[in-house]
Amino acid sequence: MMSKMQYGSDYKKIPAYSKESGKTTEVLTDLCTYTNKIVNIHMVGDPGKGDFVLVDAGFPDSSDEIIKAVEERFGEGSRPKAIILTHGHFDHVGSIIELIERWDVKVYAHQLEMPYLSGQKPYPKPDPAVEGGMMAKMSAMFPREPVDLGGNVEALPADGTVPYMQGFEWIHTPGHTKGHVSLYRAADGTLIAGDAFVTVQQDSLYKTMVQKKEIQGPPVYYTTDWEMARASVEKLASIEPETAVTGHGKALKGEELRHDLEKLVNNFEEIAVPSHGRYVEDDD
Ligand SMILES: [Zn+2]
Ligand SMILES: [Zn+2]
Repeated sequence: MMSKMQYGSDYKKIPAYSKESGKTTEVLTDLCTYTNKIVNIHMVGDPGKGDFVLVDAGFPDSSDEIIKAVEERFGEGSRPKAIILTHGHFDHVGSIIELIERWDVKVYAHQLEMPYLSGQKPYPKPDPAVEGGMMAKMSAMFPREPVDLGGNVEALPADGTVPYMQGFEWIHTPGHTKGHVSLYRAADGTLIAGDAFVTVQQDSLYKTMVQKKEIQGPPVYYTTDWEMARASVEKLASIEPETAVTGHGKALKGEELRHDLEKLVNNFEEIAVPSHGRYVEDDD
């Protein structure tokens, strides 16, 4: 029997909008990104060629539109083999309970993310004091209590493989959260980075709304360990991916991607790390 699932006790309707919301973008023939309000969900698999998976599960109250986007790509009544979570923040698991109930689907995440997916541990308080725009201020109201997926979530295999995603490996990229993972396919250099880095300045309400493309570190308002976050970005840059999709913002490819990643690595302090706030040393 399925154990009972519930969202974090502080989950609520969060006003959020971006001009990409509701859009589906085919990045590769077997990688498609659906933008749900201000967060991305990735569909991995070739339409018409069998199995596919979903990476992450969107904003709260969005299951109907997510199912619609999936069926538009893979056909009516289609359902993924699994949902792989990059991490458990509310904007990545916001509709997951309805999706599990609808699809009877398995969920996988990193072992270190389990306390935040099984109702055991809240995420550290978002930090509204960090330097940044309106979104950073608004983040004071963002949920941080954990979702409880009961027995419906399993740890990713220790050997680095990703269930139902042949050719992909998971890479531990902590910093934004303890158990954050990115997914990588060496054969063609495809990277699903999650929030290890993003391509929109997520703490600016305006830039989030217009989805201005701009490489950034992980969203500041949740990130608690900047040294780990830096090491994770360095790790991802060192594999020199060919294509990258992220939890927020548009896909980057080729020369632009490598150039932007190099810029982020070389200027991590200025680009990514906020200069004030709870989780950074104030050195002035
Ligand atoms: Zn996040
Ligand atoms: Zn996110």
